[in-house]
Amino acid sequence: MYPAPFDYHRATSVDDVLTLLAEHTDTAKLLAGGHSLLPVMKLRLAQPELLIDINDLDELRNISVEADHITIGAMVTHHTLATNPEIASAVSLLVEIAHVVGDQQVRNLGTIGGALAHADPAADYPAGMLALDASIVAMSANGERAIPIDEFFTGFLTTALEPAELLTAIRIPRTGDSFGAAYEKLANPASGYATVGIAVALTTDTAGEIDSIRIGVTGTGASAYRPTSVEEALIGSAGDNATLKAAVRTATDGIDVMEDKHGPADYRARVTQNLIRRAVFRALASANGA
Ligand SMILES: Cc1cc2nc3c(=O)[nH]c(=O)nc-3n(C[C@H](O)[C@H](O)[C@H](O)COP(=O)(O)OP(=O)(O)OC[C@H]3O[C@@H](n4cnc5c(N)ncnc54)[C@H](O)[C@@H]3O)c2cc1C
Repeated sequence: MYPAPFDYHRATSVDDVLTLLAEHTDTAKLLAGGHSLLPVMKLRLAQPELLIDINDLDELRNISVEADHITIGAMVTHHTLATNPEIASAVSLLVEIAHVVGDQQVRNLGTIGGALAHADPAADYPAGMLALDASIVAMSANGERAIPIDEFFTGFLTTALEPAELLTAIRIPRTGDSFGAAYEKLANPASGYATVGIAVALTTDTAGEIDSIRIGVTGTGASAYRPTSVEEALIGSAGDNATLKAAVRTATDGIDVMEDKHGPADYRARVTQNLIRRAVFRALASANGA
């Protein structure tokens, strides 16, 4: 199926994008890697009148590692994240996640900004961003703002981004010693999307017990979320099997667990619990230098 007709503009600067978004707020769409947008246009689920291509904006492809945070430009591709040595040493969870996004073609073109803006309920990065306590940097003609990740995913395919905003970068706080993280994913064998994906980032104290923990869940509900009751139950524990088993029981409380041909709700809920246990186990081992 072909998309509905549209005008096309290849943007030359961030200002160029912001001006066009202000003028065509409800009728324009940004084109990044196109791996999510073009399929929905072909299905005519989206019919933008204007496509603003942001692929020439090299300033959105920067990666910078500062003393207290890492900034990743919105147009950084999954392949770059999977292979960049600075990312590998500063935030290895992202490397782990980027490696399991789709296939090589998807990773070559798809971008982290596009993935977060699209907010597919089965996308991998949302879980990682929640675990890493990232913030999303957005710009519009009115200026720049940082959106805490806990406020970013607002529902099925929806985020806190305003229609005239460009996601420019993702900021992730640097971590110190006794930090461990892991991503566990049950991938759909056809598309690679997460049936369920769990990201865990934690720190341990001198006794090796969990000092702080953030868990991001993708695939289970209509949008990525943090099971905060599980996090609370694990703080102060050594993450032993009995504690973990008891803690994960509330992992889907209050969540309308998705049900589709890839798995009924009770199956997804169980996978969610089991993958949280695995991810916590691995993150703990890494924090404690095992
Ligand atoms: C076969 C296949 C398998 C896939 N498997 C996976 C998988 O396993 N895991 C996974 O997480 N994803 C998967 N994806 C999705 C893939 O990661 C996409 O690249 C990603 O979801 C969207 O990124 P994009 O750069 O292609 O964005 P686009 O498709 O260009 O844009 C997506 C949406 O975001 C908006 N947008 C893009 N950039 C910005 C910006 N900077 N600011 C504001 N809005 C913006 C666009 O207007 C559009 O609405 C798969 C895709 C395909 C086709």
